[in-house]
Amino acid sequence: MNARPRVRVLLPLPLADAYDYRVPAGLEVVPGDIVLVPLGKREELGVVWDGAADPALPERKLRDIVGRLDAPAMTGSLRRFVDWVAQYTLSPPGAVLRMALSSPSALEPQPLQPGWTLAEPPEAARLTESRRRVLALLAPGAVVAGTALAEAAGVSAGVVRGLADAGFLRPAPLPRGRAFAYPAPDHPGPALAEDQRAAAETLRASVAARGFAVTLLTGVTGSGKTEVYFEAVAEALRAGRQALVLLPEIALSAQWLDRFRARFGVAPALWHSELTSRTRRVTWRAVAEGEAKVLVGARSALFLPFPDLGLIVVDEEHETAFKQEEGVVYHARDMAVVRARLAAASCILVSATPSLETLTNAETGRYAHVHLAQRHGGAAMPDVAALDLRRHPPERGRFLSPPLIEAVAATFARGEQAMLFLNRRGYAPMTLCRTCGHRMQCPNCSTWLVEHRAQRRLQCHHCGHSEAPPETCPKCDAPHSLVPIGPGVERVLEEAIALWPDARRLVMASDTIPGPAAAAEAARAISAREVDLLIGTQIMAKGWHFPHLTLVGVVDADLGLAGGDLRAAERTIQLLHQVAGRAGRESARGSVLLQSFSPEHPVMQALVSGDLDGFMRAESAQRRPGHWPPFGRLAALIVSSEEERAADRTARDLGAAAPHGDGVQVLGPAPAPLALLRGRHRRRLLLKTRRDIAVQPLLREWLARVTVPNAVRVQVDVDPVGF
Ligand code: ADP
Ligand code: ZN
Repeated sequence: MNARPRVRVLLPLPLADAYDYRVPAGLEVVPGDIVLVPLGKREELGVVWDGAADPALPERKLRDIVGRLDAPAMTGSLRRFVDWVAQYTLSPPGAVLRMALSSPSALEPQPLQPGWTLAEPPEAARLTESRRRVLALLAPGAVVAGTALAEAAGVSAGVVRGLADAGFLRPAPLPRGRAFAYPAPDHPGPALAEDQRAAAETLRASVAARGFAVTLLTGVTGSGKTEVYFEAVAEALRAGRQALVLLPEIALSAQWLDRFRARFGVAPALWHSELTSRTRRVTWRAVAEGEAKVLVGARSALFLPFPDLGLIVVDEEHETAFKQEEGVVYHARDMAVVRARLAAASCILVSATPSLETLTNAETGRYAHVHLAQRHGGAAMPDVAALDLRRHPPERGRFLSPPLIEAVAATFARGEQAMLFLNRRGYAPMTLCRTCGHRMQCPNCSTWLVEHRAQRRLQCHHCGHSEAPPETCPKCDAPHSLVPIGPGVERVLEEAIALWPDARRLVMASDTIPGPAAAAEAARAISAREVDLLIGTQIMAKGWHFPHLTLVGVVDADLGLAGGDLRAAERTIQLLHQVAGRAGRESARGSVLLQSFSPEHPVMQALVSGDLDGFMRAESAQRRPGHWPPFGRLAALIVSSEEERAADRTARDLGAAAPHGDGVQVLGPAPAPLALLRGRHRRRLLLKTRRDIAVQPLLREWLARVTVPNAVRVQVDVDPVGF
């Protein structure tokens, strides 16, 4: 007997490698085919993978593929992307594949609903009454689903099957409605201004070239970058290829979607975590079949099975929301560049405040760079001033300084809108006992509990723990001694109510604006001038265009600067520049007031002078000598365990086995930034190398030298962002 061919099948499970299977007689498979295979007592979906199966494996150890699914095969470029991400992040390839098969139900055999059509003209004499009723429903050429046919004829499904067995009906594919209308590249959108046209032409050409290229698109907030990259999307459509746009907060992108519809006549397909499983299934298939031409999504959309991707846009490329911190730890901006390269697609990174990584790539010529220097429609950039809180202290127990209060009042008097920005949800970030100094802390995390006064709860923003505020101090029993420390947006709201009782207010935070519908309604109310004062967290920092908003007050501009994070200054300037960019986007000049205890800080100075380039140059000069990213490489090992001693022991073992050599340095072990998180004790080691050294082999060898007990987990984070 001939040995049957064998192939490698990658399963969407965290296994070290693909498994070998035998191809049964009568089945032919090629790499990329989605197949059902036996695994233990179960059957699992998998993908026929590249590379040869092991010929030495004895025949009796092999099991047969059960069958191939009726789904488009996974393209070679996506398979290579899965392998690439797995090796870069040190994740099992199956764990990455799992993201690409993110809607397995799209692959499950759908409830069998074949259509039926007439096979030959029926001869009435040979038919029973119920059979005749079924056939009478079918015009020649028409295709109707079996269940619909039986129902309309008032017969059982068995009658329809009997007609098919007797040769009167033959199966035919049911005509399917298209799930997504095609966006029209030449639908009349807004006319571009001169500088926008020139920028759009460069981007368009990069797509038309049909090869891999990365272009950085920068421009001040309000310069019209979105309309410009829409022209690149249009070009991909004209070329018959698909386009993917990654947005950091897809659920809050109502205004973006309106603009897409205005430009292309229809809505794009969407991909994010809040889709229903039915929508996920339909979308996954529509992408795989090339029916969804433009897809707008969160970072996980990178793993969708586009058969012919011509363009990837990463909007707000500097956003940390693109970093996935759980499971497979990856940065979607960086992986977008890789995905584009493997698909021979164009990649456009968009930001008013690009990351130092991307800027450096543009400076060295790896990326092309297109810049828009002016706001669209001649609107001026807002006037930014720092307000020294030492010279203008707020009243006791209050958080707004007198000059900011005056500026808000003056804005209302002119009939314009104002916004107070504070990147903190809830009422107060800490609760303190006035008698003994005890601070209310999360039992599972090393963090303070945040008071949410509206719900009368103290909450942990990391693990979801929540408790009622105690009447007496849990430490010293003093009654009525617990007091809120510091402001959250709810507390700023309280102050605003006292100051301007007649102003119409709206709080925008992730707990008051829980989803796309609420965000769209908020945007509508603001644009329709139904709101005078907006109070919000970072969810309202980006993208929004509110024509009547002329004043932005930043309640605590120093907030992001504390702590030892390498990118604290870079991130603060990016966030505050975005927030400032909400002001004065149309004819009226906007102004921005930054409340700060250190107005002399380079971040405040750069925001006031508008010289962000100068700031980034200084930042780059600081990082270069020490080989900090992007001038060196960094990877973190996070050791965690419910048992503190076990975490410490493994961290010490890793420390003792650390790699060394020229250009290689290991920092730690030290407590991780959240030393206790969801009940797990966390320690961290940082591997820092020169740029020309690859960290993956070092990490692999390092991990192989240490035995990690079951109670301990070691998470690898290549290119960590928060440290
Ligand atoms: P950015 O992303 O650079 O901050 P946007 O793309 O949000 O800027 O554009 C700012 C505003 O200007 C938006 O309201 C947008 O609709 C409008 N706009 C941009 N370009 C045009 C154009 N060519 N015609 C009309 N409106 C435009
Ligand atoms: Zn917690």
